[in-house]
Amino acid sequence: MRYFSTNHNSDPVSLSEAVVKGLAPDRGLYMPERIERLPDEFFENMRNLTFRDIAFEVAKAFFGEDIDEDGLRAIVDDTLAFDCPVVNVGDGIWSLELFHGPTLAFKDVGARFMARMLSYFIKKGLADAHDTINVLVATSGDTGSAVANGFLGVDGIHVYVLYPKGKVSKTQESQFATLGRNITALEVDGTFDDCQALVKDAFADEELNGRLKLTSANSINVARFLPQSFYYFNAYARLKEAGKADNLVVCVPSGNFGNLTAGLFAQRMGLPIRRFIAANNANDIFLKYLVTGRYEPRPSLQTIANAMDVGAPSNFARILSLYDNSHEAVCRDISGASFTDEQIRIAMSECYNGYGYVLDPHGACGWKALREGLTAGETGVFLETAHPAKFADTVESVIGRPVDVPERLAAFVNGRKRSLPMTKNYQDFKKYLMSV
Ligand SMILES: *Cc1c(COP(=O)(O)O)cnc(C)c1O
Repeated sequence: MRYFSTNHNSDPVSLSEAVVKGLAPDRGLYMPERIERLPDEFFENMRNLTFRDIAFEVAKAFFGEDIDEDGLRAIVDDTLAFDCPVVNVGDGIWSLELFHGPTLAFKDVGARFMARMLSYFIKKGLADAHDTINVLVATSGDTGSAVANGFLGVDGIHVYVLYPKGKVSKTQESQFATLGRNITALEVDGTFDDCQALVKDAFADEELNGRLKLTSANSINVARFLPQSFYYFNAYARLKEAGKADNLVVCVPSGNFGNLTAGLFAQRMGLPIRRFIAANNANDIFLKYLVTGRYEPRPSLQTIANAMDVGAPSNFARILSLYDNSHEAVCRDISGASFTDEQIRIAMSECYNGYGYVLDPHGACGWKALREGLTAGETGVFLETAHPAKFADTVESVIGRPVDVPERLAAFVNGRKRSLPMTKNYQDFKKYLMSV
């Protein structure tokens, strides 16, 4: 399968090139040139298949031409060492729990998949194994930990995590800044958008790329966002098992829109999702686009759902590409919602008091958008993108009791912080990378 750039100013490339490059040379995002519709029997039988079996079928549709079956099966099975169950919250609303992985957020799925795929390509000699591959990743909180842990100890790969100083929680920071080994954490004096700009500038810098082999592990990388479609299929299968899969509305708490884009891909592959809701915090650039037809990126605002504090969502280009730039077509499949911190807190409180279900601030946006947006006869699923314990201070102040902290999270918090300070000036970042 070839991958084309959303900017159409660079040549289509193979899967391994798209994964190693991350961003296309013309700064566009790679898209697979075909999206295969899966056969009807697959959807009819899906309730009898396990998550891993379902994921393997989906993975084959994207990657089957480029990775042999045994290799792909191993990547899928190894990635999905944990479940992504759907849990009924009440009143026709279900939570797709994506926090059962090692760093307790959905990004574990894509990050683990990408690390294993890159490692496969290095072993096959498809990626140049003489040089270390340097993964650059900007994080607003959860990407850094998922990528760092997904790649920790993987031979031939070094990861640089760029994160905004003082804008991620201590718990989040501990999950990528304490690891050492092949993981370096850079604490940037700036915002998440500054971190993302540093990474984008590095990829566009010919001199730097002549010196170092660079790749990205943000959701701009096809190996990260495409596997996120797996759990949409699994959610449908499990709901079908429960007899609740009709008129499905999926609500996605969104920041860079990688997760939502993966859902749109699943729908294109034939998954019967009636419509999507993109739930935002105060960073409502996408909602404004739906309402006005104009896409106007802005500096991000800091909120209690900080993994969605994105002012220039990078996957927007993929959404436009999927819909041939038609605002009308986008609006047919996707509606939007935006919530203030106060509204997010109230949602967490209402859900806990009404249904005994503890939401994290991101999932809370999803739940609330469904509460307000579902119509009669529809079943709603929201993506519970992180475990509430990752945002314990906020959650506990709302529900008035301690949240249970899974053991794997507690273990990180006791580690020693090892990050290096970095300015938001690209020349400083470049000088550092040229010297490593
Ligand atoms: C990254 C993240 C999001 C946003 O996902 P996108 O794919 O960037 O839209 C939402 N919630 C949590 C907890 C996250 O870590």
